Amino acid sequence: MHPMPKDYNFAEIEQKWQSRWEEMDIYRYDWNDKKRMPFSIDTPPPYPSGELHMGNVLNWAYFDMVARFKRMQGFNVLFPQGWDCHGLGIEIQVEKTKNIRKRDVPPDQFRAWCIELVERYIAMMKEGILKMGASIDWSTEYKTMNPDYWRRTQLSFILLHKKSYMYQGTHPVNWCPRDETAIADAEVDHVKKEGTLHYIRFHLEGSGEYLLVATSRPEFIPACVAVEVNPKDERYNKYIGRKIAVPLMNREVTIIGEESVDPCFGTGVVQICTYGDKEDVKTVIKHKLPVIRLLTENGKISDAGCEYAGLYVNQARAAIVADLAAAGLLEKSEKIQHEVGVCDRCKAQVEILEVKQWFMKTMPLSEAVVRNAEQIPWYPDYMKNRLIDWTRALDWDWVVSRQRLFATPIPVWYCKKCNEVIVAQEEWVPIDPRMEKPRIEKCPKCAGTEFTAETDVLDTWMDSSITCAVHAGWPDRKDWKHLFPASMHPSGTDIIRTWAYYLMVRHLALFNERPFNSVLINGMVLGSDGRKMSKSLKNYAAAPEVLNKYGADATRQWAAGGGATGSDIPYRAQDVEYGRRFLVKLWNVAGFASNLLVDYDPKSNEEVDLQLLDKWIISKTENLIKKVTDAFEKCQFNIAVEEIRNFTWHVFCDYYIESVKDRLYRQEKKSAAKRRAAQQTLYGVLYKLLQLLAPIAPHLTEEIYQNMYAEDKVFKSLQITLWPKLDSTLIDETIEDEGDKVMALIENVRRKKAAQKLPLNIPVLSLEVYAGTQASADIIISSKEDIAGTLKVAMGDFTVIPKAGQGQDVPQFPGVIPVAIFGTVTKK
Ligand SMILES: [Zn+2]
Ligand SMILES: [Zn+2]
Repeated sequence: MHPMPKDYNFAEIEQKWQSRWEEMDIYRYDWNDKKRMPFSIDTPPPYPSGELHMGNVLNWAYFDMVARFKRMQGFNVLFPQGWDCHGLGIEIQVEKTKNIRKRDVPPDQFRAWCIELVERYIAMMKEGILKMGASIDWSTEYKTMNPDYWRRTQLSFILLHKKSYMYQGTHPVNWCPRDETAIADAEVDHVKKEGTLHYIRFHLEGSGEYLLVATSRPEFIPACVAVEVNPKDERYNKYIGRKIAVPLMNREVTIIGEESVDPCFGTGVVQICTYGDKEDVKTVIKHKLPVIRLLTENGKISDAGCEYAGLYVNQARAAIVADLAAAGLLEKSEKIQHEVGVCDRCKAQVEILEVKQWFMKTMPLSEAVVRNAEQIPWYPDYMKNRLIDWTRALDWDWVVSRQRLFATPIPVWYCKKCNEVIVAQEEWVPIDPRMEKPRIEKCPKCAGTEFTAETDVLDTWMDSSITCAVHAGWPDRKDWKHLFPASMHPSGTDIIRTWAYYLMVRHLALFNERPFNSVLINGMVLGSDGRKMSKSLKNYAAAPEVLNKYGADATRQWAAGGGATGSDIPYRAQDVEYGRRFLVKLWNVAGFASNLLVDYDPKSNEEVDLQLLDKWIISKTENLIKKVTDAFEKCQFNIAVEEIRNFTWHVFCDYYIESVKDRLYRQEKKSAAKRRAAQQTLYGVLYKLLQLLAPIAPHLTEEIYQNMYAEDKVFKSLQITLWPKLDSTLIDETIEDEGDKVMALIENVRRKKAAQKLPLNIPVLSLEVYAGTQASADIIISSKEDIAGTLKVAMGDFTVIPKAGQGQDVPQFPGVIPVAIFGTVTKK
């Protein structure tokens, strides 16, 4: 047992343990150990976006608390770390910093710049994650942009193609005209915007009559293929089947009846265009309407737009509105608030284009996704509905090809002669078809010998949605199923629709098995004012600054205690400061204890005489173990941290230690067994507190452990000691009740002293306690020495009378009335 150093220098301590833990290798998953149960965390590889932000801190704190808790419970924990490198975000950043568009430079140059930027961002984020003290097994680190990872993504593509889940088709997809690529539903954000609703006259064939169509997208008039009304709408159903003129265009379309038309929206008459929105897509398919390709891939009007060809969408809108007005076809225009889909990366308005793309057949898997989501625990439970609702609302397969550069190539070629699709064989990957030819002599269909490469690449979610299998060792390890499904998939409320969903469909399709057995959800980190954290709102906290100022252990307490798991939590500096103060308190208590335990040998078999207050704190500690273990099992980190802090601060420090201090200082031989009882209790309870707190504040608890316990315990680190096992034989409600009463009595006398404005160290000259009953008197007598020692009254001046007395009793100890005479302050 070493006395603790006096000052708590968190920066030094945290850095020291971060590197020592790494040297000790204690966070390595043991691939050969098949005895311990595995626990694998499907750490979502983050997009390298530069500096770590407070949202990341919250995420990694959650992952790490689970990892540390499970490790101490005896699991062989896999806590891997990867980086999801590809993506539009990086391409856009490179375009911005180099002030170019990706098509302005050779693709190789552009990709090299992307890699350079990603490496820099990874280094920044990694520094932050290390500083948080996350117990990651760094030997697992991977980057999805490396060919070795391409191999896995491409292999999964090939296998899914063999199982007919991957197909090529010409279908409407979400299209970002700025980035000139297809995007999936999950990459479309819906934002409220101001728009204009135009009321346009559509003239009925062969009459002067017209119907009014209200639309916010008049630029789509050149692509109008039908006009629809609700067949139950008495105003219009008589027109169904008649022809109606498309304004400004020299052609007519048919009026069709469609039950999904809302007679109350706009005028109840709707133009169907290819494609104004997703509803148009449904109607076109249902009524077998023709398709007019109005937009080009860069968001301009095509030749189908006649005189408007070549204009950008917003230019065409203005021109068409002006022409409609000039032709007397515009009845009125009014401002509206409406929802539009924008690209989640660049915020450009998303269009719907019919283009040839690769798709993954996901719709047939929807029921299986819902079923599996329902079968597993979610923390918190209600979050499962986000995945279920999203899955049920999907109506398109997943478009997996992208028209980008920095991504995993699609391992496909086409025969120049007959267009046969040549998919790479499993043993060819990783391969970049843009650089290499298919490894076959001739086309299997037409014997042609010339091939063109697929230049489209894969959606970045194709990389990251196989992590559960990849972390487990697929496809290289024969025993990968040992770690599959992952024990826990952690995700944020904002990425359930992507990460959790894509993981489910990919693994279900590939392996016919769900990828994870539980889901842990974190909310978003808000600014201190409860609004979204942003630099422009001046409520932004930079994670590196917070970590430098307060240290990881204090910051992690904020993450654990900031709010219920799954809810959005604000970043409040005062929460981190409170965490800091708690650590200082614990440090000081450990320092005090270490001094009084210098002569304590836990292995000695000298007599120990446990007192009521010892048994009281021991019983309460067991109850704490029960509550904290239960909270960690349910990922209720806020409950765990609050229970530990309240117990340590108020029960352990304020009550227990204060009331046994005197006993601990007593040196006479006849109290040796009682003194040892206090030492043993102090030693044992503090150890369990350190263990319970280790997942939340690993550095400080480790430092105390190394000073006070490491010599006696067999474990080289607190982090690999075994989680305290509940011993319910030590829980005794009667003892807890009696101890509470004794504490209330001590508190009552102290309060009386304070009421007379006397310092706490003033002795009590005499103390008479009227107990009211013999039973109450017995409780007090059993702790007489501790009471006397704490209140500084000589045993001879302390009498307990088992009779009723006069005056106010102790509220928590009914019928007990203490009468104290205090000494006076002697002035020097
Ligand atoms: Zn975009
Ligand atoms: Zn061919």
